Amino acid sequence: VFNFSAGPAVLPRDVLLTVQDELVDWHGSGMCVMEMSHRGREFTQIIHEAEADLRKLLNIPSNYRVLFMQGGAHFQFSMLPLNLSREGDTVDYVNTGHWSKIAIKEARRFANVLIAASGEESHFSSIPAEASWQRSANAAYLHYCSNETIGGVEFPFIPHSEVPLICDMSSNILSRPVDVSKFGLIYAGAQKNIGPSGLTLVIVREDLLGHARPSTPTMLDYSVHADAESLYNTPPTFGIYVAGMVFKWLLEQGGLAAIEQVNIEKAALLYEAIDASNGFYTCPVEKPFRSRMNVPFMLHDDALDDAFLGDAKAAGLLQLKGHRSVGGMRASIYNAMTLDGVQTLASFMREFARTHG
Ligand code: PLP
Repeated sequence: VFNFSAGPAVLPRDVLLTVQDELVDWHGSGMCVMEMSHRGREFTQIIHEAEADLRKLLNIPSNYRVLFMQGGAHFQFSMLPLNLSREGDTVDYVNTGHWSKIAIKEARRFANVLIAASGEESHFSSIPAEASWQRSANAAYLHYCSNETIGGVEFPFIPHSEVPLICDMSSNILSRPVDVSKFGLIYAGAQKNIGPSGLTLVIVREDLLGHARPSTPTMLDYSVHADAESLYNTPPTFGIYVAGMVFKWLLEQGGLAAIEQVNIEKAALLYEAIDASNGFYTCPVEKPFRSRMNVPFMLHDDALDDAFLGDAKAAGLLQLKGHRSVGGMRASIYNAMTLDGVQTLASFMREFARTHG
């Protein structure tokens, strides 16, 4: 089967098979990774290798710290204002859809939020040109979401910013090379392109650490996790182990430049199937902002939705139902989705349109 889940999402098959092989006896230790002390020699090797491989993949500069955390991207929505702004500060947010809005709502609990730009007018089918963005004079930071998982809107550029640039990269991290030095902080829930849910990745520039508000709970202070090298409390050890193997798998694929080429090819196949369907399928997102990771599409008649999903399932194409807030379909095609899987879906879509058009 091919699984198009938006997350938790499909993992590379080779990684899963290695996990299976190593499950009860990791590298001759006689232990499963789930059974190891997070401070023992074996796990220390696992977490160090995972960080080193991630640094290699993203070419992370030495003045950035990598934190393996918990709480999902949602925890980051409140950690950001607590750590990077003071009471009364203004923070700038770009609103490109569902996840931006949730980040904004949470930030409003702690700071004055200026919406620097919003895609609302275009019903989140595009991203306003950067020249039109309004920025506050003394923003503590600028936040955006590089890929809206639900709406299928992806930034084709990295915004320019004089203040620390913060990015929710939950659903397109590691899908293409990215210049980490342009960011103050990058965060991502693991469950799309990294590994199992429960792990959250944070990459933060060192000078942004150590400024948490005095009332910040210990667990929400980035510097606590940085000082403890992600071992302040028991980290999600199994998730870190699987993420480490995903990083190795990506390096074996040729790194992010190589995986980007595959991702471009996969996305093109699906958008072509949509655009060439004479209106049988439509994608609500304007072409320059179409996501390579999450491809939303509607059938011209939503009475056909159930038949589409039922036939797709019978053909081994799973989890294509769109998010409940938008309806229609969504195919999530993260790094681990194979070209073969996308070709199979594109052929299925053409055949379904031919027989139901
Ligand atoms: N941000 C984006 C872009 C997402 O796709 C998601 C959903 O998984 C989240 C944030 C929320 O992540 P979590 O469930 O890990 O808190």
